[in-house]
Amino acid sequence: MTDQKLTVADDFVVSLDYTLHLGEGEIVDTSSGRDPLEFLQGHNQIIPGLEQALYGMAVGEEKSVVVVPEDGYGHRDLDAFQQIPRDAFPPDMNLEPGMGIELVSNTGEPAVAFVAEVGPENVVLDFNHPLAGATLHFDVRIAALRPATGEELSHGHAHGPGHEH
Ligand code: ZN
Repeated sequence: MTDQKLTVADDFVVSLDYTLHLGEGEIVDTSSGRDPLEFLQGHNQIIPGLEQALYGMAVGEEKSVVVVPEDGYGHRDLDAFQQIPRDAFPPDMNLEPGMGIELVSNTGEPAVAFVAEVGPENVVLDFNHPLAGATLHFDVRIAALRPATGEELSHGHAHGPGHEH
């Protein structure tokens, strides 16, 4: 294989090694110790600020990318907080600030919210993404690159280990 000559472009499957931190060194997420992240470039599979920065990179190339909230997980939305009566939750549920709760939205979609506040009568849930409002610092390396198959293009995502269908 001579994939050294390939560079990241739309409709390529990218295998990406990455480490995400928030500017103070604390690592929030990393592919280190597991398989690289595989995705289909140009199909909104990853946050826009990171996807844009990868165009033209070659296999083995490394880069540090800073993504502002607009191009990442958005800003924290104050309307995304919701007050729910305490008795809407099971009485034996030990609600604590910061814990994640899986819910089903009005439209039947699964959703995750985080407990922001626990009061005697009410619980405030935060539906923002935990990384909303954050400036994201990625250290990335292109681990591999290949043209997508026709099936992957028609599905709009990469097929790899654990995602064969
Ligand atoms: Zn598929």
